[in-house]
Amino acid sequence: MKEKLAVFGGEPVRKNKIFYGKQDITDDDVAVVARVMQSDLITQGPETVALEKALCEYTGAEYCAMVSNGTAALHIAAMAIGIRPGDEVIVTPITFAASANCILYCGGTPVFADIDPKTYNIDPEDIKRKITDKTKAVIAVDFTGQPVLSDAIRRICDEHGLFFIEDAAHSIGSSYKGKMVGSIADITTFSFHPVKTITGGEGGAVLTNNPELYHKINLYRTHGITKDESQYEYENEGAWYHEQQLLGYNYRITDFQSALIHNQLKRIEAYKKRRQEIVAMYNEAFSKIPELIVQEEAEGADSCRHLYVLGLRLDKLSCDRRQFFDALSAENIQPQVHYIPTYYFPYYQGLGYKKGICPNAEAYYEGALSLPLYPKLSDEDVCDVIKAVTKICNYYVK
Ligand SMILES: *Cc1c(COP(=O)(O)O)cnc(C)c1O
Repeated sequence: MKEKLAVFGGEPVRKNKIFYGKQDITDDDVAVVARVMQSDLITQGPETVALEKALCEYTGAEYCAMVSNGTAALHIAAMAIGIRPGDEVIVTPITFAASANCILYCGGTPVFADIDPKTYNIDPEDIKRKITDKTKAVIAVDFTGQPVLSDAIRRICDEHGLFFIEDAAHSIGSSYKGKMVGSIADITTFSFHPVKTITGGEGGAVLTNNPELYHKINLYRTHGITKDESQYEYENEGAWYHEQQLLGYNYRITDFQSALIHNQLKRIEAYKKRRQEIVAMYNEAFSKIPELIVQEEAEGADSCRHLYVLGLRLDKLSCDRRQFFDALSAENIQPQVHYIPTYYFPYYQGLGYKKGICPNAEAYYEGALSLPLYPKLSDEDVCDVIKAVTKICNYYVK
């Protein structure tokens, strides 16, 4: 017997709606923010320095610069490695638009490499195929929180003299072969947007082990201006003196945002544990349903998962992704789709990118939807999601 779906007037699986992601702000977080807001320095100050130190300790990175958001972090990364007009940068299309936009900000050309159909991360073999004599860097995204195959990518980058940037907006807390994300690539960027694993409302970080890159990163976030005497190009004229040495931006973060992120960082291991529990519950249930595809984890990956992506076997279902998405939404489980391949957007089509360049990414997009995943989901919430997905599969199974 097929149960009547809520989308056709049946009883929804639950009464109130749950969404694919949600921040967790405690009373203690609020108290910390209030304290810093009433202190003397409210923009980039001691709280930001303390957070940078804590992020270095947590990830094993040598240097960290906090910035206003994850997109600013990516822009700074692209500027620090010197992306200019004529340069090509290889990037995945299954990501938020900012991963490729940061290349365009610098006048460079994004070149899209396809994903691995099992892990959904950029495929090192396709990176190799996309390298030309103009290639300057690879921007690899730890999609859903699963770290990319950094050994293989490092080898390719070293062989061809390329920079390796890791867009780790999804993957703070993850590690690959025992190395924490943040300590692996030439530059790693984090985002602290509210849907990400820990948040400051907005916020970003740029991490590196390279002192020269760190020097540039630091300049780019504050207009290219330095007050560090040891770095002056001209004579120090007095206590007021400072120098603008390159064209940077105001990408500072406030100190109360840094304090909030720092307080959240203290809970990250508990968040990771709960996220992994929820992923395990979903995997256990969905791997038994032949109409569904479960994301695979590469060997050596320990992922603090930001997203749970469910794949639909459209050949085994009599609906498309849109019908499945709307049916789930009517059951009061609000999914999302991560992501529309970047080059599908009108802006990128206008730049001349054609559909068909990354067949695995395009096939993935047709059947993908993201289910609720955040630490505050109860076991009952997770059961509701499983119940709703199962109900819809039963309804549409061929
Ligand atoms: C969220 C996100 C960004 C951008 O971060 P913001 O802090 O929102 O600017 C970049 N890349 C990926 C993969 C993201 O998910």
